[in-house]
Amino acid sequence: MSLKYDNDSDFHAKLIADVLSQYPGKAAKRRSKHLSVATSEKDAGEDANTISECEVKSNIKSVPGVMTIRGCAYAGSKGVVWGPIKDMVHISHGPVGCGQYSWSQRRNYYVGLTGIDTFVTMQFTSDFQEKDIVFGGDKKLEKVIDEIAELFPLSNGVSLQSECPIGLIGDDIEAVARKKAKEHTTTVVPVRCEGFRGVSQSLGHHIANDAIRDWVFDKKDVKFEPGPYDVNVIGDYNIGGDAWASRILLEEIGLRVVGNWSGDATLAEVERAPRATLNLIHCYRSMNYISRHMEEKYGIPWMEYNFFGPSQIAASLRDIAKHFGPEIEDKTEKVIARYQPFVSAVVDKYWPRLSGKRVMLYIGGLRPRHVITAYEDLGMEIVGTGYEFGHGDDYQRTGHYVNEGTLIYDDVTSYELEKFIEGIRPDLVGSGIKEKYPVQKMGIPFRQMHSWDYSGPYHGYDGLSIFARDMDMAINNPVWGLYDAPWKNDRASAGGSSMRT
Ligand code: SF4
Repeated sequence: MSLKYDNDSDFHAKLIADVLSQYPGKAAKRRSKHLSVATSEKDAGEDANTISECEVKSNIKSVPGVMTIRGCAYAGSKGVVWGPIKDMVHISHGPVGCGQYSWSQRRNYYVGLTGIDTFVTMQFTSDFQEKDIVFGGDKKLEKVIDEIAELFPLSNGVSLQSECPIGLIGDDIEAVARKKAKEHTTTVVPVRCEGFRGVSQSLGHHIANDAIRDWVFDKKDVKFEPGPYDVNVIGDYNIGGDAWASRILLEEIGLRVVGNWSGDATLAEVERAPRATLNLIHCYRSMNYISRHMEEKYGIPWMEYNFFGPSQIAASLRDIAKHFGPEIEDKTEKVIARYQPFVSAVVDKYWPRLSGKRVMLYIGGLRPRHVITAYEDLGMEIVGTGYEFGHGDDYQRTGHYVNEGTLIYDDVTSYELEKFIEGIRPDLVGSGIKEKYPVQKMGIPFRQMHSWDYSGPYHGYDGLSIFARDMDMAINNPVWGLYDAPWKNDRASAGGSSMRT
């Protein structure tokens, strides 16, 4: 950090001013509302803890002409919420491109035989042609559903993930869904997640939640014997096996996970969800809607939890246990104690290699806040964070995680992010594939924090050692010592000037 500034707050405020100064007036005014520096304020609660405030405008349309890394509503529904439900076939309904170019981008692990009883990594499309746009595609959609019934008799249902043209030409996919569900005695769910709806993938999550409410719940007589310790894990998509690592912990403390939405999930898990006693929300952003609905309609309470890093794991397990009383609380303390030597071993190993390292994050969902303490548990510091598609309630929750002076950026443009990284030069950036290579070309270590860079799990105690190892591998990789061209180093040490630029 520049020595000209007394603290991070001043330096980060200057970075924001520099970035905005390069924009035309109107764009600068609009973007200024999405960038800020966290300040401290007293919590109004009993403890009067100091929390940070990182209020920015969010969930607003991106400025045309700047590079944003947001997705569309179809991506939010098909790619996040519905796609991982493994025993259903999810049709990308419309032209081939939307499904083809988003095919298997997420690493939602599952157990099953692909193409026989599970279909997550397969790509199904109705492959709209010009005639379908002109004359309508409902007949074609019926044919596709008939083919699926014939080719994949063990599939337990079909979802229709609408791409933009479906809404534009006004096809009646609800009528098709009703007709085919009756004919094949199966579940067919029409999802109106056309990409033009909303400002990001976030509305797609909401629409997908509503489709579960309207087309799955209460549709069948669900055969299921509920128990007093039944919980649903909501909003864990099992990236790199995260949901499995979380399930292990919840079962160890004595709970029964009767549904995991939606990583490695079956349709039956979604159908029986309203019979559980508690909903545990991992990704609040993508699944709070259906959790609120289950609370209102079926009286199931919900709570958020965080299984990244030992501090949050222990705190979350204790909060969850409180809901079930002394027996589960007792088991929980034993589980936390049992893992403590493992936690100490991991922290002791990696703390000397990672402490003091400064990290910038730019991710989606819940991770811009939830992973912060996992880094801090290893001695690292978060100097900047932001959401691709966060809402006001995400930033409000972020205030409990970040320190004063943290740079906050909402729907950050490629230009802004590059300038912030150039200015801060953190020891690590955690973001997505589109950011990875430009950041590495700047000579800064990088980890993909959407896909865990093909690693994982990062949840639970199982995830801790993998997370720590991956951050260490990125930051302390010897390749960063080879970043400067050798001839430049030779010339510099010989006191000569280089002819190369
Ligand atoms: S915005 Fe429309 S056309 Fe583009 S990927 Fe999303 S659904 Fe497809």
